[in-house]
Amino acid sequence: MSTETLTAEPVVQMERFRERLKELSQIGLDAEQGGLYRMAFTEGDMEGRAWLARQMEEIGLTVERDGAANISGRLEGTDPDAPVILVGSHLDTVPCAGTLDGSLGVLAGLECVQAMKEAGIQPKHSIEVVSFSDEEGRFGGMFGSQSVAGQVTPDTLHNARDLNGVKLADVMERQGMDPWLALEARRDPQSLLCYLELHIEQGPVLDTAREQVGLVEDITGLFKWGITLRGEANHAGTTPMEMRQDAFLGMAEFAYQIPRILEENGSERSRATVGKAELFPGSANTVPGEARFSLDVRDTDPEVLKELASQFRRALSAIARRRQLMFEFTVESEIEPVACHRPLINLLEEKARKSSLSYRRMPSGAAHDAQIMATITPTVMLFTPSRGGKSHSPAEWTSWDDIQAASQLLLDTLVVLGEKGLPNS
Ligand SMILES: [Zn+2]
Repeated sequence: MSTETLTAEPVVQMERFRERLKELSQIGLDAEQGGLYRMAFTEGDMEGRAWLARQMEEIGLTVERDGAANISGRLEGTDPDAPVILVGSHLDTVPCAGTLDGSLGVLAGLECVQAMKEAGIQPKHSIEVVSFSDEEGRFGGMFGSQSVAGQVTPDTLHNARDLNGVKLADVMERQGMDPWLALEARRDPQSLLCYLELHIEQGPVLDTAREQVGLVEDITGLFKWGITLRGEANHAGTTPMEMRQDAFLGMAEFAYQIPRILEENGSERSRATVGKAELFPGSANTVPGEARFSLDVRDTDPEVLKELASQFRRALSAIARRRQLMFEFTVESEIEPVACHRPLINLLEEKARKSSLSYRRMPSGAAHDAQIMATITPTVMLFTPSRGGKSHSPAEWTSWDDIQAASQLLLDTLVVLGEKGLPNS
């Protein structure tokens, strides 16, 4: 005779999931543009938060808000001293966003704990569904998860502003929050078992390969430079070609060298982009005396990033010398790449195989809360395919079959983690 309590295998309920996504997709919707506008701490975002808290209460989770306005709903474990499993993502969006970026991970977490509850499973470790504040970086970082990781300082709070110069502290106060409490949102790594995040891929790899799930091995790091090349503005008609100090030609030559530099010094995962450029004085009949442009470089290996930084600096310096230009650059941001927790990836893989899912191990080219959480607790991400690779647009979409597959995989994994804790290998 078995002494085990009989419980049904928990299964995600897709009808309920779909209904929730539909409701959430109405919040912050601009019907004319067809996109969502739930930028951090705007009315749409506040409404989304209130909606989420209600969902959590209805399921019977313990709802809490920390000083950084992160919301969590906890399924209490049988051992109150056991470290907590976090699962979630974010509800805030970029302007004119689609419905899945962030929201899918929060709703999947919600569905998983509800399914566990319904199956009569009470895990040993508490499981907390979390929605982090301002993942999309309206105020320049990932405010919510950075607060939890203890990376937010009084300085950050003083200086954080959005692109229009609006201060984070003011916005939070206007919403009835005390921004300084964010300094107390830090969580003791000892109190956490791990963090899991389901997210759309936001790229074309899974969709193109027709695979259902991506198991993220590494999240890319990046550096962003603001570069200025300075020559001399002069008359477009009277200045002979060989007597020019044309800043645009310097920039163009640099951009042209990017593929070669990546090929020679980067890895398969390296990416480099000049996404923004301005010429001065900016008139059609003047040789441009100044070019200002951005450079965004990414890779999953910190050594490769270092090597690329040094090669790009050398290229700039050589071009400037040859073309008689001055150059300067400022480092606007730097984020270290992080590795996901190998035993957690292996556990996901084992479950994916058992369910006969098609999957691949892959890097994440986009930044996520997981990148911050990985600095304090074992972290793993799983991706669903993004149709056509589209994201940060209303065209964002993943098929419901794929959402179901990834959510059930998350659920199966949570059941094991909740009972047994972290795998060893
Ligand atoms: Zn996201």
